[in-house]
Amino acid sequence: QAKILKRGRATLFSEDLSARARERIHMLTDLRAAFSAERLFLAYQPQVDLPSGKVLGAEALLRWKTEDGRSIPPDQFIPLAEQSGLTVPIGEWVLRTACHQLKRLTEGGHANFRMAINVSHTQFREPSFVPALGWALQDCRVDPSQLELELTESVAIGHIESTSAKIQEIRNMGITVAMDDFGTGYSSLSVLKQLNVDRLKVDRSFVMEIGEDGDATGIAELVIALGRQLRLVTIAEGVESEEQRRQLLKMGCHEGQGYLFGRPMPAKEFEAWMAAQG
Ligand code: C2E
Ligand code: MG
Ligand code: MG
Ligand code: MG
Repeated sequence: QAKILKRGRATLFSEDLSARARERIHMLTDLRAAFSAERLFLAYQPQVDLPSGKVLGAEALLRWKTEDGRSIPPDQFIPLAEQSGLTVPIGEWVLRTACHQLKRLTEGGHANFRMAINVSHTQFREPSFVPALGWALQDCRVDPSQLELELTESVAIGHIESTSAKIQEIRNMGITVAMDDFGTGYSSLSVLKQLNVDRLKVDRSFVMEIGEDGDATGIAELVIALGRQLRLVTIAEGVESEEQRRQLLKMGCHEGQGYLFGRPMPAKEFEAWMAAQG
């Protein structure tokens, strides 16, 4: 009996595995096709100054529009791109596209607008990464301070010294660097100090529970206090309610990003939204 059960399970398990493997291969083929057919696009989400509500910039967020019109979120396909060598070409496309949009916005009257892009650790480690930043900036002739890179704590794992040196090199070019999703990774406070970034993004999971859960309110508050202590600009992600905005402001948070201010929008929609801000 036990043997049959076991064999049954083993069969189920392997069928399940191969179905998943097939699914992955399909998805990978689709992703390659999407990349070449330009079905990847960027959505732009505003980042605002909390006290005044003024729009300071935007974060570029990658989207994949499938042929049947569905939109696949980046969390689902970035790991796939990572395993298949597509990270670097997609990352370079994101950089060029976001810089081009930054140029359009700047020329359209939004001087000093800041564009933040997400950089994966593979892309960051690539020797061609820093030169690519230089070319992208030269190409769109915006001020380097208008470009921001969002890195997660994972870039530093096992590479604290080289990461810190590369961040310094990037900041010397005039580009700013933000630590994304702070508090969700494994790194310690000393890593944050060593990495020497400009801006600290308070993860949405801590912001989400402000006003609901005592502990999470405490964590958001601690992260903001830590950022201020290290003289970093703090920005809270995932701000959805007026109550959260109010509390964050009270905690001394500088900037905010979230549905309360604006959803991620495709380029044309974002330009119209910006124009309506006056
Ligand atoms: P992230 O960098 O932390 O981006 C913030 C995520 O929170 C975005 O999800 C955004 O749509 C979502 N968000 C913003 N405000 C709110 C809110 O008020 N409520 C809720 N519920 N969600 C909000 P998205 O666009 O699905 O991106 C997920 C993650 O994928 C990003 O997290 C980032 O780590 C990664 N990602 C996005 N674009 C790129 C890219 O071009 N390259 C790389 N390497 N990673 C990317
Ligand atoms: Mg980000
Ligand atoms: Mg984030
Ligand atoms: Mg996040």
